[in-house]
Formats: sequence, structure tokens, C-alpha cells
Amino acid sequence: MALNILIIGGVALGPKAAARAKRLMPDSNVTMIDQGTYISYGGCGIPYFVGGDVPQMNGLRTTNAGVVRDEAFFKELKGVNAICHTRALSINRKEKTVTVENTQTGEKSDMPYDKLVIATGSSPRIPPIPGADLKNVTSVTCLEAAKAIQEQCAARKINHAVIIGAGFIGLEMAVALADMWGIKVTV
Ligand SMILES: Cc1cc2nc3c(=O)[nH]c(=O)nc-3n(C[C@H](O)[C@H](O)[C@H](O)COP(=O)(O)OP(=O)(O)OC[C@H]3O[C@@H](n4cnc5c(N)ncnc54)[C@H](O)[C@@H]3O)c2cc1C
Repeated sequence: MALNILIIGGVALGPKAAARAKRLMPDSNVTMIDQGTYISYGGCGIPYFVGGDVPQMNGLRTTNAGVVRDEAFFKELKGVNAICHTRALSINRKEKTVTVENTQTGEKSDMPYDKLVIATGSSPRIPPIPGADLKNVTSVTCLEAAKAIQEQCAARKINHAVIIGAGFIGLEMAVALADMWGIKVTV
């Protein structure tokens, strides 16, 4: 019987694991879920998209041949069933199922697996600072957040930015905001 491989997370590790599994086991059923809207993108390029070096967001999720790596791409070219807007809520290891929720409708269901890959990445450590949950306070760990920032920049809604964290990502974002959009940036 065909092996059911379920992968949670669809940005870097998830798509690699899915494509590799399908190559090694062409008869397997490979499903990859992600809670977000966009999959298989270059997260490292987020500051370059915000800063205009990558002019279109799709530039971060396009193959060399110019094909956008979306759900249809994975279905048609990789034979992988990729499903966005789907968050894993719990794993039942005894039954070998994952309870998932459609983030748009709230509908819950169980997905069976023989092999499960957890490719959920990391999340930013936001210190317990009062106000960290206010509007206009964000991290930049996903393409959805990058798109929101870029749109606000393009609409000239941001005059000043404060970046907390002067590591690579913080400094790359500082340069992107200041150089491309002329925003006054404090790091
Ligand atoms: C701005 C920025 C710049 C970077 N620059 C560099 C760089 O220059 N060089 C470098 O090597 N690395 C860089 N990185 C790091 C690199 O992008 C990550 O190491 C890499 O994306 C990790 O891949 P991953 O697949 O493990 O996780 P992620 O890319 O984080 O993907 C995990 C996915 O799983 C989803 N997910 C999480 N929980 C669930 C759930 N319960 N159900 C469904 N889906 C879920 C998440 O929403 C996400 O879409 C950068 C990252 C950022 C954000």
C-alpha cells in the first residue's frame, strides 16, 4: 500500500522533504500543509523584497524557469499535495493522525499519516515588553508580514521605524527601509 507522508510546514524544509520523498518513493502520497498563504519562498530574501532589490514578492517564490512555487506547482510538477491555510493543532501518535484547522473557515479535520515530518521552523522571541502586541508592531519572519510592511511603505504610511535587534535581519531591514523608502530608522 502507498505510504502516506504528511509534512507540517511548507517554506524551506517542508518542500525539500516533500520533493525528496516523492523522488525516492514515487508511489507515496505526500501531503504538505502550511498555516500561511505562501509556501516555498526564500525567507532570506525578505529584506531584499522590502528594499526593492527583489521588485516583486513572487521573485522570492519563483523557479529559475519563472514558475511560481504555489499549490498548483507542487501538485502538477512534484506530485505533492500542498495545502495552505491549514494549521496543525495536535498530533495523535497512537492513531497516526494530525488534527488540523482551516485558518479561513475554522473547520477542523483529521489527516492520517504513516510518516510525519515536522517542518514548522522557528518563531521570533518577542520579549515581554508592554505594547509589543500593539498595531504597527511586527516581526518579519514570514512573507505575509513582509508584504504588509512593503505595502505600508509603498503607500507612504511609515515615516519612522524603530528596529529592536541589531543582528543581520534587523540591520538588513534598517537598510531596506531607509534606502528604498527614505524612512527614518532607529536601530
Ligand atoms: C528576514 C529573514 C532573513 C533571513 N536571512 C537568512 C540568511 O541570510 N541566511 C540563512 O541561512 N538563513 C536566513 N534566514 C533563515 C531562514 O529563512 C530559515 O532558517 C528557514 O526559512 C527555516 O526553514 P524551515 O522550513 O525550517 O522553517 P520556516 O521557513 O520558518 O517555515 C516553517 C513554516 O511552518 C509553518 N507552521 C508553523 N507552525 C505550523 C502549524 N502548526 N501548522 C501549519 N504550519 C505551521 C510556518 O507558518 C512556516 O510557514 C532568514 C530568515 C528571515 C525571516
